Amino acid sequence: MITRTARCSCGQLVVSCTGEPVRVSICHCHACQRRTGSAFGAQARFLASNVVIAGTATEYMRTSESGSRAMFSFCPICASIVYWNFEGDTEQTAIALGAFAGEPFPAPQISMYGEQGHAWVRLPDDLDHG
Ligand SMILES: [Zn+2]
Ligand SMILES: [Zn+2]
Repeated sequence: MITRTARCSCGQLVVSCTGEPVRVSICHCHACQRRTGSAFGAQARFLASNVVIAGTATEYMRTSESGSRAMFSFCPICASIVYWNFEGDTEQTAIALGAFAGEPFPAPQISMYGEQGHAWVRLPDDLDHG
């Protein structure tokens, strides 16, 4: 089975993910724009049982507009957010897609909060607008 490795910018926080992601999505919401410093967020969820984390992480709990909460884990040295867990969901771990830089990765199937996105962003036609 394939194993992909996500890393923070400085490289001390490393997440190894075995198998294919459960879901790959992008999110245009304002919180994801701020979280990533980019035009939209891209993330992949893996079964938590297939995720191995090495290194030191600092945690930040964020409450979304819908009221759901997620615990974001970031490197205390370089501040990259590498992975997060949704409150009440111990089955899956979300990983920042950009942290897999250099690894081949499936295209997203889902696009969220498109109404908060930049008007110039163009996406494939076959995305599910969740
Ligand atoms: Zn780091
Ligand atoms: Zn978002």
